[in-house]
Amino acid sequence: MKSSIHAFFLFVIPALVAISAAIFFQNTLLAISLVVIIFIVFGLGVAIPQLKFFGNFICSGSKSKKQIALTFDDGPDPKSTPQLLALLRERKIPATFFCIGKRVDANPELAAQIRREGHLLENHSYAHSYFTNFYSAARLKTELELAQTAIKKAAGVTPNYFRPPVGLSNPNTFRVAKKLNLQVVGWSVRSLDTVIREPEKIVARVKRGLHPGAIILLHDGNIPAEKLLTTVKSLLDTLQKLGYEVVRLDELLNEKT
Ligand SMILES: [Zn+2]
Repeated sequence: MKSSIHAFFLFVIPALVAISAAIFFQNTLLAISLVVIIFIVFGLGVAIPQLKFFGNFICSGSKSKKQIALTFDDGPDPKSTPQLLALLRERKIPATFFCIGKRVDANPELAAQIRREGHLLENHSYAHSYFTNFYSAARLKTELELAQTAIKKAAGVTPNYFRPPVGLSNPNTFRVAKKLNLQVVGWSVRSLDTVIREPEKIVARVKRGLHPGAIILLHDGNIPAEKLLTTVKSLLDTLQKLGYEVVRLDELLNEKT
């Protein structure tokens, strides 16, 4: 984690020194340009997990084996999660679910079923607010603790991983996650399954991005069950044809206990 935090400070500290120098030498244009550059770089760091700008944003696993992890966000959703679970059970495929705490509170039996069937149940915030990335450290901590509690209460397990809503992060994300013993997880392949309409196009997109160690981002919340099932069936067939093994996130990261 240290080396990643350095990326942020290695950039910001020299930039602040340069701005001070520009102000000292009354070079206003240079000072303004530097401030704009800082904002742009900071914004890219916030929006792109793979840059690991503020900390150790885990976006893939070891590339040494032809293994990938499927991650499903925004559930549990009674309209689609049960059908997905049935498919995964039938195909003997383990998965990782980044659940929204308040949906776990609303569907505790479904959350318990996810865990009982051998999948990972992880933290995707309590309320999934699009403003989560603007929360103070204290508010973010409460938000994550509420989700930890909801999952523990429903399924008897304490999550080890946190995926921030929309994948946005800032230095607080990593500080708070560390306090709660959570590792921050993103993805290396984004399916855009809630945006792209046709399942075959979603699968084609995932296929283009596939690589050993890939963490694939999918959704079981806010997606029609039929579309989800068609997509996952076709994706599983594609993965099998290409010789990829689907494993849980903890196994992909060699952290399975
Ligand atoms: Zn989400």
